[in-house]
Amino acid sequence: MEAPAQSQRYPAQTTEILDQYRATWGGRISEERLLTKVLWSGEIEDFTGFDVSMVYDYIANNITYCCDDSTLAALIIQTAARLPRDVRAFVFDRCVFLSAGRMLYGMVLPGATAKPETWIILLSERMHGDDLHSFIAHEIAHAWLGHDRLSPEVPVDHETQAANLAQQWGFIGRGADARHCNAYMRR
Ligand SMILES: [Zn+2]
Repeated sequence: MEAPAQSQRYPAQTTEILDQYRATWGGRISEERLLTKVLWSGEIEDFTGFDVSMVYDYIANNITYCCDDSTLAALIIQTAARLPRDVRAFVFDRCVFLSAGRMLYGMVLPGATAKPETWIILLSERMHGDDLHSFIAHEIAHAWLGHDRLSPEVPVDHETQAANLAQQWGFIGRGADARHCNAYMRR
């Protein structure tokens, strides 16, 4: 069997963007430089085919997070890599992740006092389980949906909305499970 052409490693959308960049830059820059340009264009929906460390570098450089905990930082980056492109752009522009130490799972606050139109996402360093990406995606969903927990206008079913959206983004686990999230909030 013949080896597939190199471009077949990528989803159709990536191949299309790569071809456009090749048409512009082809031959003048290295393949690695070309891939970096495509990655940093922010146009890629699905990172399949890209070198994982290259993708994580790109996200780490675009996300704002303040935490010393490298495990938590890695979880945030991995979660962002799995988001739809427009949500990832929102996370880059409008979200600030903070470590909340070890006392709670997560919470999202409007960051208007610090920077208008910004959401502060507090995350615990004490989260445990194999579904932690779903918790981070859940908090991003609250921000994406504009759920201001300090406002009386936050919808009564905000937990269900955030969990369902995280699930729609493809996350599996407690943060994407509306029943779990509602039960957790009632306690
Ligand atoms: Zn929630």
